Order: sequence, then C-alpha cells, then structure tokens
Amino acid sequence: MKRALIVVDVQNDFCEGGSLPVAGGAEVAFRIGRLLHEWTEQGPKSPDYAVAVATRDHHIDPGGHFSDRPDFVDSWPVHCVVGTDGAAFHPNLDPQPFNAIFLKGEHAAAYSGFEGRTTDGDSLADWLRKHEVTDVDVCGIATDYCVRATALDAVSSGFSVRLLTDLCAGVAEASSASAVEELRTAGTVIA
Ligand SMILES: [Zn+2]
Repeated sequence: MKRALIVVDVQNDFCEGGSLPVAGGAEVAFRIGRLLHEWTEQGPKSPDYAVAVATRDHHIDPGGHFSDRPDFVDSWPVHCVVGTDGAAFHPNLDPQPFNAIFLKGEHAAAYSGFEGRTTDGDSLADWLRKHEVTDVDVCGIATDYCVRATALDAVSSGFSVRLLTDLCAGVAEASSASAVEELRTAGTVIA
C-alpha cells in the first residue's frame, strides 16, 4: 500500500481576502501546512504518505465559469487567473513540499484535480499510478465543489479514498453536507 496526500486548490482567491472566499479557507490552509510540516519532519506523528501533490485552479479564459453576475453554482466571480496573486498558494500553506502540482481549468471549468496536468503533461491518475500509489487522502477547498469532484474521480479511477474533513472548507453548509454523504455512498472513508 502506498498513500498520497492530495491538496485541492488551497489558493489565495479561495481564502479570506480573495475574490471567491470560502469561510475557513485560511484556517484549512494552516492545518494542512501543519500536517505537511509533520510529514516533512518525519516525526513520531508523521502521516504515512509516500508522496504529496497539489491541484490548482489555473484560469486563462474559462468562458461561462466566470460571470459578472455569478450564481455561485455554475458561474463564479473571476478567480485564480494565471499570473495573479489570487492563483498562488495561500501563505498559511507552509511548507509546500509537493512532489507534483496539477493545473486545471485554462479554458473551461475544471472542478476535479483529475482534469489537471503537470507542466510536463502528466495527468493526476497517470502520475499516481507511475508512483505506485494505491490510496489517497483528499483535503482542501471547496468541499462541495473541487474536493468533491476530485474525491469522486479518485474513487472511479480505482484508488482507495479518505476524505480529511477537518482539512476541508465548503462554500455552503447544506451542499457540503450532501457532498460528504455522496462521497460516503461512493465508497470514500470519511475521516
Ligand atoms: Zn475555477
């Protein structure tokens, strides 16, 4: 068994002060940073990750994903535009010892990290298989959108999946709760 940590979209625009802030985003960034610190220090409480990866929303012109009058379901304020500070990892996410970063959404909405690619062109599923990963822990922002989609794709790609709920923040309470139930039904362990 080899386990990977997948950190989804912990970017400035999704945290307090960003253009599409999710309540609790900065706190989640801090907690994930603490977990990554334990991992890199290999202390007694170090999690058993073989690798850690991150995904990032990485928009150039994603069409109807952006709107001046967003409905906050299918359309959103402008966010995570390539080259802006909003697209950068939140500074509370420290350290950032990722073995690979998967960028998604250049020209269309992409909620799942499995739609992303490294700058070398590797997809997340191919990269994880290349590193013999069998199990993944998923955390990040937002529970009801990109975390949900990433975890569902991880299950359908054949990985054993845990959702680290203490390390997730959601856009809305009701849709986050139903996302967690949907993931549980799909076979995700809710940790
Ligand atoms: Zn987006």
